[in-house]
Amino acid sequence: MKPVIANHSSFNEASRHQFGRIHLPVAPKCNIQCNYCNRQYDCVHENPPGITSRVLAPQQALQYLDQAMALSPHITTVAITGPGDPFANPDATMETLRLVREKYPWISLCIATNGLAILPWIDTLAALQVNHVTMTINAVDPEIGAEIYAWVQYKKKMYRDLNAAKLLIKKQLEALKRLKEAGFSVKVNSIIIPGINDIHVITVASKVAELGADILHYLPFYNTKEIVFENLTEPSAEMVREIQHATSKFIPQMKHYLWSMAHAEEMQLKPAETAALPEKTPVYRPYIAVSSLEGVMINQHLGESERFLIYTMDATGKCTLVNARKAPQAGGGEQRWNELAETLSDCRTILVSGAGEAPKKVLNRHGIEVIVIEGVIKEIVVGIFSGQDLQELIRKSQIHAGSSNCRGTGKKCG
Ligand code: SF4
Repeated sequence: MKPVIANHSSFNEASRHQFGRIHLPVAPKCNIQCNYCNRQYDCVHENPPGITSRVLAPQQALQYLDQAMALSPHITTVAITGPGDPFANPDATMETLRLVREKYPWISLCIATNGLAILPWIDTLAALQVNHVTMTINAVDPEIGAEIYAWVQYKKKMYRDLNAAKLLIKKQLEALKRLKEAGFSVKVNSIIIPGINDIHVITVASKVAELGADILHYLPFYNTKEIVFENLTEPSAEMVREIQHATSKFIPQMKHYLWSMAHAEEMQLKPAETAALPEKTPVYRPYIAVSSLEGVMINQHLGESERFLIYTMDATGKCTLVNARKAPQAGGGEQRWNELAETLSDCRTILVSGAGEAPKKVLNRHGIEVIVIEGVIKEIVVGIFSGQDLQELIRKSQIHAGSSNCRGTGKKCG
């Protein structure tokens, strides 16, 4: 099998604007514990931090893909990236890949893993014509790995400390070598954790390049709190750039999907700062908030949203996920919407699949427009930022969705 990276949005920066990728959340469990991971959320190796996907059974995932395909003709890649590790849930993962491959023989399939348990599945993945594998390798020295991983569970046995790191690194490097021998294109992710592996990632880059990895993607450590590393600081954009520069001589680097850096550089005004502005100063609102179950489609009712995804667009027309923000608890009537307005005080618009009139009024009073629309997040966010006619965008979304009716339960806008 030949590595194909040209039309893959995770591997190729140019293709990201042309081709769409959808993640099917069928793999809830994980077989390791990274000290930067808060398992309330999806695996941070390939998903934006702070996202919690609703887990789907393989058949549900296929139905979901069918709906997404009807809405967006640009989807060319299906990924399984969690919420845990695909090979800690091999039955659901393989069943989903098989269903998708049968129905969409032309689609590009990719998978993201910590690498512990992929080895026995490599031949099956090749038979299913999975094109791309992303593996996260943060250390090749077990002493450093032991600081990053709390435990590893392998063949029903629990390993901790140095033994855990030794086993994980051994399995990762074996799998990388075998994947390349089998012809997969392989992206390696490394999380840069200041004070833990920020120097060592250079050795990691050299080792994975030697084993044939196609591309390297650095993800800055993102502090979600309630994690072992919660007292560590996030790396600066400069640190990330220096590491990329130092390792680009070994291996090509992927530099998009830098949501953590956008977060780290904090372009937004905090609620406290906007509150301190004189009353007539226009509030700076560079963002659009989106309610989505899984981070691909706008498909959640305002009243049912537990968190909002925050998007921005830069001068080159790139739409980027900045972060995810928790919504205030349900209940509490108007107070809930006032709190939401404060949480989203730097957002000009909220995109939801349904909304009651009362919350819309409260949010409008705070200068936030609520737009009821369904469809692929990036297409609609780009449309709104670039000034496309709103009624036309809504009309198109209604044609695709077949209905403009609110899909919420009708009970949760209080
Ligand atoms: Fe979390 Fe690490 Fe498992 Fe991903 S591999 S879900 S980051 S523990």
